[in-house]
Amino acid sequence: MRFRLFLLLSIMEFLVGCAGTFKYYDPNIPHRGKTGFLNNYDNTPKPSVLKWYWQRWTTTFPKEDPAGAPIIPVNLENIRNPRGLTITWLGHSAMLVQMQGMNVLTDPALSERVSPVSWAGPQRYGTLPLELKDLPPIDVVVISHSHYDHMDVESLKKIQDMNGERTRFLVPLGNKEFLQAEGLRQVEEFDWWQDAKVGELQFVFTPAQHWTARGLFDRNETLWGGWMIQGSAQQVYFAGDTGYSKDFQDIYQRLGAVDVALIPIGAYSPRWFMQLAHIDTDEAVKIHQDLHAKLSLPIHWGTFKLSDELMTEPPEKLRESLQKANLPLTVFPVLKRGETVTVDNVSRKNGK
Ligand code: ZN
Ligand code: ZN
Repeated sequence: MRFRLFLLLSIMEFLVGCAGTFKYYDPNIPHRGKTGFLNNYDNTPKPSVLKWYWQRWTTTFPKEDPAGAPIIPVNLENIRNPRGLTITWLGHSAMLVQMQGMNVLTDPALSERVSPVSWAGPQRYGTLPLELKDLPPIDVVVISHSHYDHMDVESLKKIQDMNGERTRFLVPLGNKEFLQAEGLRQVEEFDWWQDAKVGELQFVFTPAQHWTARGLFDRNETLWGGWMIQGSAQQVYFAGDTGYSKDFQDIYQRLGAVDVALIPIGAYSPRWFMQLAHIDTDEAVKIHQDLHAKLSLPIHWGTFKLSDELMTEPPEKLRESLQKANLPLTVFPVLKRGETVTVDNVSRKNGK
């Protein structure tokens, strides 16, 4: 049975390599390649997922983890009357960012599973730290890329149902048509460095090192990246999913120092497979430093099992990485799911 599945996946992997001309190809724009979007700095071919699955099946298949990140119920008072920049972790990469009267959600994958099907695929550890009806009215949803643990169509539809035309969905280039066909109305798509003003805030789509696919034949047909959310005095950076690259120095050069950076710390193991697309905690700390972030908050851990490290390992590794870099743990504190952080209103030093 396993062998037959392996054979089927092998044939599919071969077929993926045989795609036609890419619709966004532009010889003058380096990241719009002939067969799909490209990274700025490292386009080493992705290692074979089959090799990883084979290794898991035959040798290192990890035991089930007992628990994900701790959960506390969201203190609704904090998010109903936010005082200053207020950020609440809803699990995985979903953060509620409240800034200047605006409510922004990052990659709200709030379903039970993050998968093309409802009966299989990574399942949420524990519960959501709040009921969806308790979210404040959402003005903007930013999406980093199309992977199921980041762009969860069911969650997006629920957010639209609750808020109607109020919610705008800002998504990477290549996703608009698909999301509109799914019934989302206010969708705008962005190439790297394109921006949009929504109410009081400016949103800039920034490069990252990653890849995309939702099916077997659409690898890198939609773009990936992060978002800088700029207010009048502060800016919050949401990294999405990324490997380490010079992109973060570029982001600092163009957009200035970051007040709060939301940086992934999980899904890094095994390194030989994950390194190109997912940072480890040493690299998360390097990104914190590259961005000259005053504060970073960890995301992308403790919620869905996507990789081989234990679900509870990333915070321990983060502590070690901060100690190695001679940084206090308070610059990159580990949150519980449901926890809210309020940041003092301090002006940006190097912002535009
Ligand atoms: Zn991803
Ligand atoms: Zn992810």
